[in-house]
Amino acid sequence: MLALCPKCGASVTQVQMSEVEAKSAQGKSLRGVAYSCMRCSAVISVGIDPMALKGDMVREVMEEFKKLQDGKTK
Ligand SMILES: [Zn+2]
Repeated sequence: MLALCPKCGASVTQVQMSEVEAKSAQGKSLRGVAYSCMRCSAVISVGIDPMALKGDMVREVMEEFKKLQDGKTK
């Protein structure tokens, strides 16, 4: 079964990725990614950028780890 663009009807075999900012009601934002039709640029889907999320998670875990280490040495 073919995946078709809801706007132009083209068969979707590739998508264009572009970075977007995903803002929550609490004011926090995450780096997201929009997937668009290669032919007409209509946005097909938006999600959280998995690579950015992984990087942010590693950084936050390391910051918490450093805090714990600093607490132990005092
Ligand atoms: Zn399209």
